[in-house]
Amino acid sequence: MTMQETVDVSRNDLDNIVRVRNLRKSYGDLEVLKGITLNVRKGEAAFIIGASGSGKSTFLRCVNSLETYQGGELWVEDYLVGAEWTGKRWVEARAATTASRRSRIGMVFQRFNLFPHMTALENVISGLVMVHGVETTQARKRGMELLDKVGLADRAESYPARLSGGQQQRVAIARALAANPSVILFDEPTSALDPELVGEVLSVMRQLIRDGMTMLVVTHEITFAEEVGDTVYFIDKGVVAEAGAPADVIRNPTNARTAEFLARIR
Ligand code: ADP
Ligand code: MG
Repeated sequence: MTMQETVDVSRNDLDNIVRVRNLRKSYGDLEVLKGITLNVRKGEAAFIIGASGSGKSTFLRCVNSLETYQGGELWVEDYLVGAEWTGKRWVEARAATTASRRSRIGMVFQRFNLFPHMTALENVISGLVMVHGVETTQARKRGMELLDKVGLADRAESYPARLSGGQQQRVAIARALAANPSVILFDEPTSALDPELVGEVLSVMRQLIRDGMTMLVVTHEITFAEEVGDTVYFIDKGVVAEAGAPADVIRNPTNARTAEFLARIR
């Protein structure tokens, strides 16, 4: 990102939690994102589909300040990712600023990424206690509410190894919710699960959508995207090749490559 190029137009557009204009990201010589543009409205469930290697994870990682980017603008709520405002101009964000922003975004990975030496409850609240400084009794109360929400209140004291993949992923979702994030990013949350465990995770996600949570979801679960998504983005060759309502993008794609991709994964 070139600081001089940023235009402070989107800063107050808070109806859109995530605002992306012409985002470019390279790893060395490999340009992965070649100008991604999209918005995620407050309360929207936006789905990203696309072939393996098309840059979906890279995109989510940029939104969550886990990657730097080389061009365009990427806003989350009122901040420009990677930059901070001095009152006069944008400068490169300090590490502490980036860490604190990251702690306010929920992220759920394909592999559940729970701490193996912590119970389900401890996994849910560790960020609250260690990063946000919430007092333990209060954090435990909140953690139990969240475990209840994902249907696992009775497994609070279980260690990850004693939980099924579906249960672990539900714990990971409870953990992602802990800090009351303004958006949750899901990176293929059901891809690592045995087929019979996919449904319980999708059903928790469906409930979050009903609750009005803003979500950006990368998935190959096309039927689910069609059922619950507000918007679907097909990413191809580093750009959004097709975007729109699921009924249009999934049922009646206008781009031949979208149709090809959908035919391949069905
Ligand atoms: P997707 O999630 O759509 O499968 P990724 O975002 O993981 O795609 O990867 C997009 C491209 O970027 C791939 O070619 C991948 O090999 C490359 N890539 C991803 N992460 C890195 C990295 N840390 N360093 C170098 N190349 C990477
Ligand atoms: Mg990926």
